Amino acid sequence: MRQYELSKQILVTGGAGFLGSHLCENLLEKGHEVLCLDNLFTGIKQNIDHLRDHPCFEFLRHDVTFPLYVEVDEIYNLACPASPVHYQHDPVQTTKTSVHGAINMLGLAKRLNARIFQASTSEVYGDPTTSPQVESYWGNVNPIGMRSCYDEGKRCAETLFFDYYRQHKLDIRVARIFNTYGPRMHPNDGRVVSNFIVQALKGEDLTLYGDGQQTRCFCYVDDLIEGIVRFMELPEGENGTPGFPGPINFGDPVEVTIQQLAEKVIELTNSRSKIVFQPLPSDDPKQRKPDISLARTYLDGWQPEIKLEEGLMKTIDYFDGWFLPRLSE
Ligand code: NAD
Ligand code: UDP
Ligand code: UDP
Repeated sequence: MRQYELSKQILVTGGAGFLGSHLCENLLEKGHEVLCLDNLFTGIKQNIDHLRDHPCFEFLRHDVTFPLYVEVDEIYNLACPASPVHYQHDPVQTTKTSVHGAINMLGLAKRLNARIFQASTSEVYGDPTTSPQVESYWGNVNPIGMRSCYDEGKRCAETLFFDYYRQHKLDIRVARIFNTYGPRMHPNDGRVVSNFIVQALKGEDLTLYGDGQQTRCFCYVDDLIEGIVRFMELPEGENGTPGFPGPINFGDPVEVTIQQLAEKVIELTNSRSKIVFQPLPSDDPKQRKPDISLARTYLDGWQPEIKLEEGLMKTIDYFDGWFLPRLSE
């Protein structure tokens, strides 16, 4: 049995992105060595600038759609654009990143006999017909729509993970992550929290798509990272058999409409911005809410601790410091 209190060499793909950079930080704080891999498609070097001088941190510019030969103990596979604007920019590359990227990282894990984590998504449920979404729900996904490159790519990656688990006895951990927000989202990321905050701080109109009555649940980044690291640290099963592979939902079960989010951001920023309604993108899910019973049961009662208002304030502070100084340059 592996000794999880010992320092490990850990590969984080997508490590220069929003979630990846927070994960690299968390793992370094726990005393591990981190190999941060990224092709800098949506990630930026500024996200990891503060880690560069850390003796246990290394950055590798690489695309996961190409094979990778390194020696590590553990892999977190996060590489993939997550914002609809960015993953629809080059949809073929998005599918390749999920599918070829998964094959390469699983092949690497197989050769090294390394535990491997997959950042899957609530998008595998598509536009769900049931709420809240439990892990046993198979989803309602359009296979040929604008979001399919992301949704179906992630679904296929899950298939690959579970086939390597069954066929090669690989120790996999599949997390279905629901909407997560916080510092280091890129101001041009295109997702709703960063869009609304940047618009409010600039005094621009907040762009509300559709009638604003669609719902999402927003989890603050620190809570999410704590949960997925706990998941990865679950010990192996009896006699060296793989531990719990998941999938496990990670998210905050508190559901809000997008209009409520817009109003909250305006209130918290004391902005004079107005809300303007724009067309709803195709296949935009109407409702999304995680059932997190499995995470609570397996991960020592894990649940989000940071309330939406508190998390939004931390994110607003970050954006205030990030781009206002640049506006006046
Ligand atoms: P992000 O866009 O900030 O980070 C993704 C990172 O992957 C970027 O640094 C990007 O440059 C890198 N990348 C993209 N394609 C790559 C490739 N082919 N090779 C190497 N690197 C590549 O997004 P994020 O929010 O940090 O998401 C990280 C992961 O978590 C993604 O896999 C995403 O699908 C998943 N996820 C995120 C959320 C969320 O709400 N943030 C929700 C569900 C799932
Ligand atoms: N691979 C990799 N690094 C490794 C081992 C494998 O990138 O250390 C990639 C390689 O591209 C391979 C894929 O992972 O095609 C799947 O590997 P696997 O051993 O499962 O299957 P193979 O295709 O080699 O039979
Ligand atoms: N949205 C919006 N205005 C924006 C960006 C997004 O109203 O400027 C909506 C979007 O249509 C969706 C929700 O906010 O209903 C969440 O969008 P996001 O892109 O953050 O993530 P999704 O959950 O759709 O992947």
